[in-house]
Formats: sequence, structure tokens, C-alpha cells
Amino acid sequence: MFDFDVIVMGAGLAGMRAALAASQNGSKVAVITKVYPVRSHSNAAQGGINAALTDRGDNWEDHAFDTIKGSDYLADQDAVEVMAREAGSEVINMEHMGAAFNRDDEGRLGVRAFGGQREARTFFVADFTGQALLHVLHEQVLSSGVQVFEEWFVTTLITEEERCVGLVAMDMRTGELHVMRSKAVIIASGGVGRVFEPSTNALICTGDGISLAYRAGAGIMDMEMVQYHPTTLKNNGALMSEAARGEGAYLLNAEGERFMERYAPNMMELASRDVVSRSEQTEINEGRGIDGCVLLDARHLGEKLINERLLQIRQLGIDFAGKDMVTDPVPIRPGMHYIMGGIKTDIDGLTSVPGLYAAGETACVSVHGGNRLGANSLLDTLVFGRRSGEHASEWVKTQAPASIDDTHASRCLEEIQSLLDRDSGEMFGQIRLDLGQTMNKHLAVYRDQKGMEQAKSDLADLKQRYASVMVQDKNKIFNTNLIFTLELGFMLDCAETTIIGALERKESRGAHTRTDMPERDDKNWLKHIVVSQSNGKPKIDYVPVNITKWQPQERKY
Ligand SMILES: Cc1cc2nc3c(=O)[nH]c(=O)nc-3n(C[C@H](O)[C@H](O)[C@H](O)COP(=O)(O)OP(=O)(O)OC[C@H]3O[C@@H](n4cnc5c(N)ncnc54)[C@H](O)[C@@H]3O)c2cc1C
Repeated sequence: MFDFDVIVMGAGLAGMRAALAASQNGSKVAVITKVYPVRSHSNAAQGGINAALTDRGDNWEDHAFDTIKGSDYLADQDAVEVMAREAGSEVINMEHMGAAFNRDDEGRLGVRAFGGQREARTFFVADFTGQALLHVLHEQVLSSGVQVFEEWFVTTLITEEERCVGLVAMDMRTGELHVMRSKAVIIASGGVGRVFEPSTNALICTGDGISLAYRAGAGIMDMEMVQYHPTTLKNNGALMSEAARGEGAYLLNAEGERFMERYAPNMMELASRDVVSRSEQTEINEGRGIDGCVLLDARHLGEKLINERLLQIRQLGIDFAGKDMVTDPVPIRPGMHYIMGGIKTDIDGLTSVPGLYAAGETACVSVHGGNRLGANSLLDTLVFGRRSGEHASEWVKTQAPASIDDTHASRCLEEIQSLLDRDSGEMFGQIRLDLGQTMNKHLAVYRDQKGMEQAKSDLADLKQRYASVMVQDKNKIFNTNLIFTLELGFMLDCAETTIIGALERKESRGAHTRTDMPERDDKNWLKHIVVSQSNGKPKIDYVPVNITKWQPQERKY
């Protein structure tokens, strides 16, 4: 059995920032990650990270207001204030650790414009910001004494007397299960992208931590808020960063019209993501699209700027759509990108289960509410990753180790063994694909009661199929067949909380747009929806939105 003060599940930006903070505060820390750390999805972040720096005449309150308006007033304003206030120091801290942000002509940190914000306040490293930040934090974690368990897969959280006291993880190289005892666990396991198909997310984004927290009794909040990004590539759903529009690219319909004039005359292509995605979908639905897409036109930006700032997405367009953005408009459409909901936490990352924390895309603090602004997620991972690491490492100083032993691993082993012993049944692949397709059909940009009920009934069938799923590969060493099957179980839980939240919310707000209930209803629905498990069944609770000083207004861009 391993023994730590704090265990962090996940080595993306949130997990590494949390681990570093906890270790610097004196805790004995482990990070567990199912992939090599720098292959975490944070690595794929392209566009940048927001912060209002006062030396530009910007201020945190403007950033907070833009975020709250972007969230369609569902974000908790105390949490947004914390994020916007602490943004500057986090970005400067990353710079001091070694992140080589792009510079402006005067040699200061450069900024680009991003959607839904009245100021250009997005700091960036070309179009691979996430990669740059992740490598810097990885170096820091490696030199900090944190023990990193690479290619270890967390299967279960251990709770004792309703307190989280560790977890069980599989060393994927040997297939062996280990009990890892700790006084606190921080879940930083990223989003649920692949519950939808297609998605901009990596194949590993399967909502493992959200499901584990749900099974451990934690509240899961606002899962109906699923972000469809306005510019994903036609063929494979890969992301064409908002940075393209931030640098000045246009959106055109089949008639060559900059159609955003009709929907957001002031902000145009840089309205918030939910607004742009709805506008595109309306154009497509009303017959002004081309093969289910509209066009991203960056030709007027010129090859020099594109190569300096958008080189990676230029290559994506060439490789996957056969279009070079220097010479051709690129066909794009709204695609699943981000989950605003997640494990409900306070502003220090604490969940409703003592000893259990969450940070990053896995968590719902909530700073994104009904719609996240581009470049606020990297910021969320750093600010709340650090805060949860700091808080957990203080808390563990007051805690005695729990008296647990290896029986937890043997129980997990029995479950996995019975899965491996099954030698007939369906494999995970088709179930996973059917799940993704039903979610993408019924819980996309536009939703209605009938479609969401269809998704609910499809999910019941999929769960039944999963109950007799077979793992064909019986080996212990790097059994990816087994890992994918376990992940599918997590994905089904995430889909369940999403569908429950979506059916519950009887209004349109942010990314949750119902054609049968098109208005926002602040009187009845200015509140969070929390789903938790009670006696194995989902239970719904409401939590009021925390409003500090910005009263809900009509949202126009
Ligand atoms: C293509 C793309 C571009 C983006 N661009 C931007 C951008 O420019 N700006 C912005 O702000 N946001 C952007 N985002 C969103 C942002 O990148 C993510 O929300 C954020 O990086 C998530 O970080 P994280 O630390 O929470 O999780 P991740 O980086 O996803 O890391 C999750 C970690 O959890 C581990 N893990 C998961 N399950 C298990 C398990 N069972 N056992 C062990 N380990 C496990 C994984 O190994 C991984 O290390 C983008 C997202 C995508 C997909």
C-alpha cells in the first residue's frame, strides 16, 4: 500500500498546478495519470489564457463582468471575482517559471482578442499555448519531489465514514491494482468530451473523475451546460482555434455573407461561443450552409501572420479538410468542445465529500455558468488548481491517516476479474459510438423535450448493453481493451447526469437552448441543478446562484 498526504488524479494543468502548490506547502504528494503527463488534453489548448493586466488599462472587474455575461448569469459571481482577481499573478507566475508568451512590438507580453470580451486580454504562445504551459509545469513538478505515477489508471475512490481517504489505481504496465492511502484526494481528470461524437477532445476525455465522484456521493452540477465550439473542422471535428477569429478571420455563409451581422452586430464573429454556434446552426438549418457547414475565411490575414500565429491550425485544415487557410476558406461547424458543469466545489476546490477536492474542467466552481468564454478554462485550471492544492495541504495537517488496508484492492480486483471472466457478449466499441451519436443528436446546439427524452431512453438501452459487455483481451499487460471498457462505464454516468440536468432545466440559458422553451426564465431557473446518487438512484437538488453585484440583464453582443 502507498501512503501520501495528498493524491492528485490527473496531470493536466489543473492537476500539476495543484500538486505543485500542495508540495510547496509541505505535503507529501502523488500525481496519478493514465497517460504520460504532457499528453493530457491541456496540451491541445491552442488560443490562450485570459488575464486583465492593469498596465494595459484593463481591470479585473471588466473581465469578471464579461465572464458573468458570457455565462448567461449562471456563474457564481464570488468565484468569478476570485478567478479574475488572481488571473494576472497566475499568468505572470507562469512567465517567471519559463512560459515564453508571445510579445508585442514594445516587448511586453502580447495579447489577442477573444470572444465575448470587450478588451483584448488573451495571452498566448502562438497557437499552442496549452503545450507551452503544460511543459513548464511538468518541469516544475518533476523538480519538486512530487511522485508521478505515469500510466496508472484510477478505478475507484475509497471513502470511510463519508470521508475520502484514498483510491485504488491500476499500474497499466502490469495490470496490478494498488491501494493508495491519502488524507485528501484532488480530482483533476479533465472533461467528458468523448461522451459526444464527434468532439474536439482527446480520446482520453471520458469523464472518469466526474463519475468516480458521483459514485462516491458528491454533487455533480450544471452538467446540461455543454459547449459547442463554433469552429470545428468538417470531417473529423478537430478544433480550429477561436484565435483565428481573434486575429480577424470572418465567418461566411453559402452566399458569401458575414452572417454574424444579423445576430451580433457589435461583436460580430467575436460574440460569445453559444451565440456564434446558434447563429451558424440557424444558417445551416435555414439552407444557407454548404454541406452542413459554414466557412471560416482567414485569407485577408495574409500568409505571414497566419504562419506566425496560426501555423498549427493552418496545418490542421490542410491535413484534415484539404484546405489551406492562406488561400481557401475552411468548412467548419459547431462541435462539442467543453463541459461547463462538473463536480460541485467551493472556491477552494472542496466538494461535498470531506477530503475530496476537484479542480479544472472536471470541477464546477462555478465560473463558467451556462457558457464559458474562450481562454477562461486554462485560467480556471491554474487558479483553482493552485487553490485546491493549497487548501488540501493545509487541511491534511489536521487529519490522522485512515485505517484502511488492501481489501479495497481485492474488492476491485474481483469486479475486474468477473468482467474479464465473461467470454461472450458485445465489445465496448459500438456502445461507445452509439452513446456519442445519440448525445450529439439530442443534446447539441438546439434541444427539445422529445429529443432529450429519446436520449434518456437510448441511455437506458446502452446501460443494459453495458451490463453484459465483454473484454476480449484477457491479458494483464497494457490491456487497453479493459481500460476502454472501464472508461465507458464512467461515460455512461456522465451522460446520465447531463440528460437529467437538461430535462430538468425548463428554459433556454447559455448553451442549453431549447426550441420548445426559447426564453431565459430568471424567476424560476436562476439556479444550479445538482445531481447526486442516493441509494443508487439519481437525486436532484437546486442551489441558488451567488450574485455579488451584477444583476441579470438581457444579453446582447
Ligand atoms: C482542442 C482544445 C483546445 C483548447 N483550447 C483552449 C484555449 O486556448 N484556452 C482555454 O482556456 N481552454 C482551451 N481548451 C480547454 C482546456 O484546454 C481544458 O479545459 C483544460 O486544459 C483541462 O485541463 P485539466 O487539467 O482540467 O484536464 P486535462 O488536461 O484534460 O487532464 C486530465 C488528466 O487526468 C488524467 N486522468 C483522467 N482519467 C484518469 C484516470 N481514470 N486515472 C488516472 N488519470 C486519469 C489524464 O491522464 C490527464 O492527465 C481547449 C480544449 C481543447 C480540447
